[in-house]
Amino acid sequence: MLQTDVLIIGCGIAGATAALRLARNPERQITIITREPDPHESNTRYAQGGIVAHGADDDAELLAADILAAGAGASSPKAARLLAEEGPLRLNEVLVEIAGIEFDRGAGGQLMWGQEAAHSRRRILHVGDGTGEAIMRGLIAALRRAPNVTLTTNATAVDLITFPHHSRDPLAAYQPITCHGAYVFDRDGRTVHRYLAAATVLATGGLGRLYLNTTNPPGARGDGPAMAHRAGARIVNAEYVQFHPTALAAPGAEGFLISEAVRGEGGLLLSPDGRAFMADYAPKWKDLAPRDVVARAIHHEMEKHSYSHVLLDIASRLPAETIRARFPNIHAACLKAGIDITHEPIPVVPAAHYSCGGVAVDEWGRSSIENLYAVGEVSCTGLHGANRLASTSLLEGLVWGHRAAQHIELSVGQAGSLPSPDRVPSWDESGLVADADPALIQGDMQTIQNIMWHYVGLVRSADRLSRAIRELRHLQNEIETFYRTTRLSDGLIGLRNAVEAALIVAQAARHNRQSRGCHYRQDSVSVEGDRLI
Ligand SMILES: Cc1cc2nc3c(=O)[nH]c(=O)nc-3n(C[C@H](O)[C@H](O)[C@H](O)COP(=O)(O)OP(=O)(O)OC[C@H]3O[C@@H](n4cnc5c(N)ncnc54)[C@H](O)[C@@H]3O)c2cc1C
Repeated sequence: MLQTDVLIIGCGIAGATAALRLARNPERQITIITREPDPHESNTRYAQGGIVAHGADDDAELLAADILAAGAGASSPKAARLLAEEGPLRLNEVLVEIAGIEFDRGAGGQLMWGQEAAHSRRRILHVGDGTGEAIMRGLIAALRRAPNVTLTTNATAVDLITFPHHSRDPLAAYQPITCHGAYVFDRDGRTVHRYLAAATVLATGGLGRLYLNTTNPPGARGDGPAMAHRAGARIVNAEYVQFHPTALAAPGAEGFLISEAVRGEGGLLLSPDGRAFMADYAPKWKDLAPRDVVARAIHHEMEKHSYSHVLLDIASRLPAETIRARFPNIHAACLKAGIDITHEPIPVVPAAHYSCGGVAVDEWGRSSIENLYAVGEVSCTGLHGANRLASTSLLEGLVWGHRAAQHIELSVGQAGSLPSPDRVPSWDESGLVADADPALIQGDMQTIQNIMWHYVGLVRSADRLSRAIRELRHLQNEIETFYRTTRLSDGLIGLRNAVEAALIVAQAARHNRQSRGCHYRQDSVSVEGDRLI
């Protein structure tokens, strides 16, 4: 058993920012865990395009207006204003001053502002096309320098410890649901420990891996929403799963993201026979239309003409040396897959990319459960509404990671206020001897990914969603039996969470009959008529 003032589950940009802000108080002991052996591994690591700030002829009002426009009428104006006003301060304070990140500058030393879809200004800071890697290196190094932060790898949170759920006291039923930490699986020792904390911050990232085609790495399997849901937290906007329009469609490199910045720098979408089609779908924005519009346009072209992919041409738009300098990682990854982007167009398909919804939180990252905070992609601050504006999620992780830490600092007691350990039951593994069969875990995971891609994907309907829910429920029963009778493993924890998270998304999608942003129901009428395809 471990006792700590604050337990942070996940060390991507959101969790790491919260930890660094809390660490300013030397009296606080902060424990931050990741299920990965390498703490850099996270969605944050793969961010390419960059992070939004205020460009040269820009201000908070313009940025907030672009966020609201992309969000298809469902973004919270308060959240957009908060991010637009506080974001640049946090970026400077955390990423530049603490993590030491050097964003790209021109020959004269001026910051180079990138352009991305649906931004009315050039305002994206980047480190080549490897911004996320640079951010994770800086943040993890800063965490390791903080004497009151313990960073533990190979530690998978299994479930939140909440009262009354885990309390032995029958009178706890009359109290509001309160979080006291988490049960954490030590992947090396194969045992589950109680991590008791005065405040718990969920920062587990996204759920793209619930889908067959995704840009997300394997860890993005929805652990956070699943744990929060089991504990009784409010989850909102789960149906708004954003599909990135352009993931590489080349054997062996599927899902590798071709950043929006490629279109921002002039890249054009073409059908395999060379037809530029975006003007047919979005006459005003064309290739720089919001993501949901571009992703559906590609999906529609692929379905209508039975294309296996479409093309993204940057080769004929920029000189080869500019392409290599601006997109070194994309250039290298495509070359590895046999495509030289300085000479030929890139084959692309849409792929699940980002969860706009999640654990409902307020402006301080507080969830509906006492002492449980959620920050970053696992949360729903309302910022992204029905469709996230490109390059705003890293900044959201920074702003809300910081704000949650501020709130904890002011209002949550230290480990001294924890329930005594004998009030929290230990994890009971008695009688579990069988090891989980990896073939079953992989097979069930693939079933979930297929169901989600085909029935809860870019184009949805009541029939598809009902079918998905029926099949997922059946699978959930099977998995739960398996879970109750098998020794725990990280894969089994992930599978149990994946089916729970998939059901959360599918049920939210069935419940919401109105097409909006990235939730498109072919059996309904959208309020955003001009954005329908
Ligand atoms: C390919 C790609 C490109 C992107 N490009 C951009 C971009 O250019 N700009 C932008 O703003 N956004 C971009 N995004 C989105 C952005 O990267 C993410 O939304 C953001 O990084 C999420 O940060 P986070 O801290 O919430 O989660 P993550 O960075 O995903 O971190 C999650 C953490 O939780 C841990 N974890 C998960 N489950 C458990 C568990 N059960 N127990 C313990 N630990 C757990 C993980 O190991 C990890 O440490 C991109 C995303 C992808 C996939």
